[in-house]
Amino acid sequence: MTNWRDTGFSTRAIHAGQDPDPRTGAVVPPVHQTSTFAQQAVGEHGGWDYARGGNPTRDALQEALAALESAPHGVAFSSGMAACDAVLRTLAPGDHVLLADDVYGGTYRQLERVHGAWGLGFDPVDLSDLDGVAAAWRPATRLVWVETPTNPLMSVFDIAALAELARERGALVVVDNTFATPYLQQPLALGADVVVHSTTKYLGGHSDVVGGAVLVRDDALAERVAFLANAVGGVPGPWDVWLTLRGLKTLAVRMRAHCDNARAVVDALVGHPAVRRVRYPGLPDHPGHAVAARQMRDFGGMVSFDLADEPSALRACGRFRVFTLAESLGGVESLVEHPARMTHQSVAGSLLEVPGTLVRLSVGIEDPDDLVADIHHALA
Ligand SMILES: *Cc1c(COP(=O)(O)O)cnc(C)c1O
Repeated sequence: MTNWRDTGFSTRAIHAGQDPDPRTGAVVPPVHQTSTFAQQAVGEHGGWDYARGGNPTRDALQEALAALESAPHGVAFSSGMAACDAVLRTLAPGDHVLLADDVYGGTYRQLERVHGAWGLGFDPVDLSDLDGVAAAWRPATRLVWVETPTNPLMSVFDIAALAELARERGALVVVDNTFATPYLQQPLALGADVVVHSTTKYLGGHSDVVGGAVLVRDDALAERVAFLANAVGGVPGPWDVWLTLRGLKTLAVRMRAHCDNARAVVDALVGHPAVRRVRYPGLPDHPGHAVAARQMRDFGGMVSFDLADEPSALRACGRFRVFTLAESLGGVESLVEHPARMTHQSVAGSLLEVPGTLVRLSVGIEDPDDLVADIHHALA
């Protein structure tokens, strides 16, 4: 068996954890649609006893994702939010978390209304201001929750600098790598301790499955996360992990196409008379451009922009013909949405409220000319 860990990114995406089935030679890992596994004698089995605890198809996905993030351990979950929950559950009541003040709305809602209610402290801060992060630090701070680029404001944070700051103070850095994917950004190599994903997005890549994952460097922490997956039970089903594995194989080619198409869309938005501001880390005037250029391979497929007012933003969202008006992101098809009234409605009225002028695009891999023509039509 080849050690796939030593191979290039796409080779790992296609082969890691996915050697041909030793019994049948099946080139694609079988969907092990079973809840239990026969034992040869009491307690004697091939490593799987009950499917909440483990399933060979899920193992294949965990190995593939860990290989792509260069992580020793990977644990798959039934959604990105279940993955976030498992990481936060490794903390104890009284512990404190620092997180970006424009973190994904679902993450903030979970901290505020689930973990916060059970006694976890947290403070949203501007993670691009390292002095501000140090000033917000408390003796109980155990974890810095980084998301970069952020959903939907496209802020970029310096993972290496935050990891150093946290390491000096004995805390862990978690990076939600959903927007960048391991193809564009490798948080563990930059010093982070944990990566979380909504595999629903680019990793699955085809808008046909919901899932999540946690990738961990430390052995004991990984064991705790795997324990929580089984004990709490937010585990993915075998078909879902199989679909995610199938999507993963083409991650590199899809990401290159997403990045190229996003550049074409940004070119159409910049200088358009209706557009007040384009939020895309590839633009030289983006506040995080230099950091993004350093820590990312390319700038990704997500683009947000502001129109003059909320009615204009709502009207534009309804006028697209190639971009579909829908929540979610990261699939092959282009999507448009109004974060304030759709994906980020849960943070309306809070510190994390997003502007009503904002439109978010998940640029798909259709022909770029069709996407650019659609932008011009929607904004006309
Ligand atoms: C979608 C998303 C999540 C939540 O993942 P689900 O799979 O929807 O539970 C977490 N973080 C980011 C950045 C996301 O975009």
